[in-house]
Amino acid sequence: MDKNNRRTIIAGNWKMNLLASDARSYAGELTSLIPGSHAWCDTVICAPYTSLTAVISAFEGSGVFVGAQNMSHFSSGAYTGEVSGPQLKDIGVEFVIIGHSERRGLYGETDESVNKKAIAALDCALRPIICVGETLVERERGVTKDLVSMQVRTALHGITEDRMASVVIAYEPVWAIGTGRTATPQDAEEVCHEIRGVIGGLYGGKTANSVPVLYGGSMNEGNAFDLLAQPDIDGGLIGGASLKPAAFAVIINAAR
Ligand code: PEP
Repeated sequence: MDKNNRRTIIAGNWKMNLLASDARSYAGELTSLIPGSHAWCDTVICAPYTSLTAVISAFEGSGVFVGAQNMSHFSSGAYTGEVSGPQLKDIGVEFVIIGHSERRGLYGETDESVNKKAIAALDCALRPIICVGETLVERERGVTKDLVSMQVRTALHGITEDRMASVVIAYEPVWAIGTGRTATPQDAEEVCHEIRGVIGGLYGGKTANSVPVLYGGSMNEGNAFDLLAQPDIDGGLIGGASLKPAAFAVIINAAR
């Protein structure tokens, strides 16, 4: 499913689940269920730091990309417990989730830190998957579009047009993540369309039409097809349903 010239991206976010020793059986099962999928989408597995090397090795030659779930905005130094972009790049990571709502909500990440991390990712040729989205209170207050637009503008501050070719945006309503409650395809489309409009305002229509905008929030085997069929939804960021290769494969195949 290529919308205009946009590549569909189906990214799994394992969060703090699975072990390095699960990588080989997971990769074997997933790849057997998605033959030829690189023809219609890029599949990405965003694994915990401790599993990245095992996942990269397990998927070698399959065309599946591997991503991290976070990174420091510093490239090296005295930052105990942190992992930098160059360190991720060094082991073969190609994508990195930036500003996931769990990072924002539990670890105090802000739009400004998201911006710094996105720039740091691009500096070392990692593709940032920049997450934005409103809480339930914000949705009920009717400020979703204004808030998400502001998150996108701040996250992209200082990123030049030529670098937008590597950027991915994920619209993830916070109330839909891990809750089993999904945005309707129409609601998700409306916000993804708005995001594309913001990118158009910043960089022009050509760039807006080339940046993949994903939806995330309880996407599963049952709702993926309708969400992915929306004109401005170019793929998904999938948590829970990416932990089981069979379920994740249904979503990848639904993107066809
Ligand atoms: C996520 O982790 O980004 C996510 C969308 O999780 P879930 O699919 O479980 O809601």
